[in-house]
Amino acid sequence: MAAATPGSDEGDLALAGVVRRFGAVTALAGIDLAVRKGELLTILGPSGSGKTTLLKVVAGFEMPDEGEVLLGERRITAAPPSKRDIGMVFQNYALFPHMTIAENIAFPLQMRKVPKAEIRRRVEDVLALVDLPGLGGRLPRQLSGGQQQRAALARAIVFGPRLLLLDEPFGALDRKLREQMQLEVRRLQRKLGLTALFVTHDQEEALILSDRIAVMEQGRIVQLGSPEEIYRRPATRFVAGFIGESNLFRARVAGNGYALLENGVGVPLPPGAPPEGSEVGLMLRPERPKPISAGERLDSVFSGEVVETVYLGETVKYRIRLNPGLEIIVRWPFREAGESLRVGDRTTLGWNRDDLHLVGWS
Ligand code: ADP
Ligand code: MG
Repeated sequence: MAAATPGSDEGDLALAGVVRRFGAVTALAGIDLAVRKGELLTILGPSGSGKTTLLKVVAGFEMPDEGEVLLGERRITAAPPSKRDIGMVFQNYALFPHMTIAENIAFPLQMRKVPKAEIRRRVEDVLALVDLPGLGGRLPRQLSGGQQQRAALARAIVFGPRLLLLDEPFGALDRKLREQMQLEVRRLQRKLGLTALFVTHDQEEALILSDRIAVMEQGRIVQLGSPEEIYRRPATRFVAGFIGESNLFRARVAGNGYALLENGVGVPLPPGAPPEGSEVGLMLRPERPKPISAGERLDSVFSGEVVETVYLGETVKYRIRLNPGLEIIVRWPFREAGESLRVGDRTTLGWNRDDLHLVGWS
């Protein structure tokens, strides 16, 4: 397979106006999405937001009530799953327990009537690719959870699919193994130039893995962008709260480039604020505020008292009660003992207007 350039504009998978209802529940409320060739696009959203339904519509296990699914030039909306040329790894889409790993991986090739010698060669190759050489003769239960997911991945890619779908594939693995598998999937997907749609509710996983992220809320895609865009410029209050840790202040635009916080304190706004009187959310990432050193000038300055400290290795998270009556979380690099703050210490901090990001409140 030739590697494609991720992010090229060549569309590969497209959903247009896809709606799926289950009785009174609208699982997909009109999905428009174009996945580029060779890109790993993550569908990120809370439980129940419609992620699995979206993947099932692409795979052919669910029919949309409205809309179309296209793979390249081909309309596949009503095609049976076996005719879609799609590889899949699901958290609960287990390996066949009574077949060896090699037999499991050979299965999609047998379905496609690939000659025996060719099957043997491809199974060997893919076992090496997913780092399971020599384990083809074992049964699934004789492998660890991580190894089983590698085998499932091997089965999904062995026939050279047009598209790879992964639905929370590492949910059952412990943290260290999960991180290892995330890097592994990324490496393989890049190496093979595969177009991939990855589903997760884990924002950290999404930020690490993705070329682009589509954030879902209640059956809709509320934002589509690069991990950096989604993190730095969330489009809504929901996205701001869902991705990464943030301080989110409710405020009212007061004119003169200021907004009033709920406690009546005025803070300078970044450019692009809505008209006076509008209610807005001011998002401030914890790494943005700075401790004030002598002679420094920042747009907003507060003093406060440290009420909680959490040591996180290279950084320390502080919860600080600002004067008057406003709490903020900041995350600063760890400094040597004696220099870092403790609970009860007083401190002065500040930020510039451009450190704030505006979102709608309602
Ligand atoms: P996610 O994968 O994001 O957790 P799902 O796509 O599984 O979300 O579900 C979206 C919504 O659709 C949920 O409210 C869920 O209960 C509902 N749903 C999904 N599948 C079915 C089904 N087969 N029958 C009835 N309701 C369903
Ligand atoms: Mg799901």
